[in-house]
Amino acid sequence: MSDMNTKRQALVTGGNKGIGLAIAKALAEADFFVWIGARDKHRGEQAVATLQKAGLDVGLLELDVALEESVYHAAAELSTHISSLDVLVNNAGIAVDMTKAPSEVRMADMKAVYEVNLFGPVRVTQAFLPLLKAANQARIVMMSSGVGSLTLITDPTSIYSTVNLLDYTSSKVALNAVTVSFAKELEPFGIKVNAVEPGHVRTDLNGNTGVLTPEEGAAIAVKMAMLGPDGPTGGFFGSHGRQPW
Ligand code: NAP
Repeated sequence: MSDMNTKRQALVTGGNKGIGLAIAKALAEADFFVWIGARDKHRGEQAVATLQKAGLDVGLLELDVALEESVYHAAAELSTHISSLDVLVNNAGIAVDMTKAPSEVRMADMKAVYEVNLFGPVRVTQAFLPLLKAANQARIVMMSSGVGSLTLITDPTSIYSTVNLLDYTSSKVALNAVTVSFAKELEPFGIKVNAVEPGHVRTDLNGNTGVLTPEEGAAIAVKMAMLGPDGPTGGFFGSHGRQPW
């Protein structure tokens, strides 16, 4: 943690594995001090140790995005270490049961998915906003999905139209709307808020069936986290550029 107070600061939720860990690594390599948000202390410590062994400046922030108290405790904790936050990547996400037809999805599962994928980014963004506003030109990235695009899930030529996940898909569609709302409110503060879709990435989320590496999936999030002053806000982006809503 050599330069904790002089470097630009980034927080990645769900940063202990998968795409989040790859985003954290890439931002640390780009000279950010990166806070790995992890709901499990042990898993978080392991990720931090791995990146520190590679010579990167990272720290652990215990943070369960589904729990109000945990999120506000984490924001208060981070405020004791730093006075401003340059980048927030709302990456944490879950899919509870990918086998159920929409008519069979249990409400309890749907609520659990929304707590992490939709309400999580809202409460984390709200809780860390004072630190983000204190930074010069902060960036917020929302980790959406290709299935977050109503255009693509209704386009028979798109691979995403073959996926019919009631809870996961609708959580990401709503997250895209949340992105637009925050982008409008925060533009006067110089804060850019964009949603990204990583592609089909090999992680635990999909039983490691994806085709891209976590590093490849992380690339668009890292790019939107480091946007210059002329960059867009309130948009939805994938590796090939703008995604349709
Ligand atoms: P992953 O390997 O399963 O990683 C998910 C991360 O989120 C883990 O660090 C997990 O922590 C964390 N997490 C889950 N619930 C949390 C909570 N309540 N509080 C804090 N952290 C929590 O999955 P991934 O594929 O990297 O997913 C990352 C993001 O990309 C998700 O938002 C996902 O929807 C999105 N995405 C992925 C794909 C893909 O192809 N993989 C495609 C489109 C979008 P634990 O280790 O403690 O479980």
